[in-house]
Amino acid sequence: ALYHVANQLIFALMKTEVIIVAGGKGKRMNSVIPKQFLVLGGKPILMRTIECFYHYDSSIHIILVLPQNQLDYWANLCADYKFEIPHEVVVGGAERFFSVKNGLRHIWGNSLVAVHDGVRPFVSTDTLARCFAAAEKQGTAVPYGDITESLRKIDGQSSRTVNRNLYKSIQTPQVFQSELLLKAYEQEFLPAFTDDASVVEAAGGAITLVPGNPENIKITSFFDLLVGEALLKSK
Ligand code: C5P
Repeated sequence: ALYHVANQLIFALMKTEVIIVAGGKGKRMNSVIPKQFLVLGGKPILMRTIECFYHYDSSIHIILVLPQNQLDYWANLCADYKFEIPHEVVVGGAERFFSVKNGLRHIWGNSLVAVHDGVRPFVSTDTLARCFAAAEKQGTAVPYGDITESLRKIDGQSSRTVNRNLYKSIQTPQVFQSELLLKAYEQEFLPAFTDDASVVEAAGGAITLVPGNPENIKITSFFDLLVGEALLKSK
């Protein structure tokens, strides 16, 4: 317990920032409202996501990346829901990579920067503490979950079993020392960049894995919304 308190004190000295990416168009859900604005337990998903970070550290610098055509919609939602957590709004890009890059133009620097999917409103305080503490020490921290299904690798027309213990499923927030992340995002975009770890790794950075939390799901389908409602009820 003492070790934990000491850890908290050490990383509390370093400024914290988060870039919450919600710049996607939400094509998978077939809904008119982009998924990050859908209401979960009486509140838009994105507000729940922002609250996770604010409750973890009320002095964290919050940068929210949204598509250009949703800025007014978000401003109206904030007014309707009397949402008052301070945050900076930045316009997104054509790919997640460019949305993060736009967010990076607004960071304070000399800090620990988390990048988090707007559609993950169930990240726990413990996961956040683990990620920021590991990134403070190692430079990077990426939360993972275990694979519970069996896995098969597709090879042309056939497929074969692979050892699932050799794989992890990757979540966000992915936290980095700011200089490392800024440098990595100077690279040319590659389609293989599906998260920030892939970008930092391509720039030569070593990725530190830390346990995430199983409820930290990415809400991308109607089924995920139902799971989300159930998670809220069980809290
Ligand atoms: O669909 P995908 O897995 O890329 O989405 C992950 C996160 O990245 C979502 O929160 C989505 O809003 C965000 N994103 C973005 N800008 C894009 C595409 C996705 O901020 N152009």
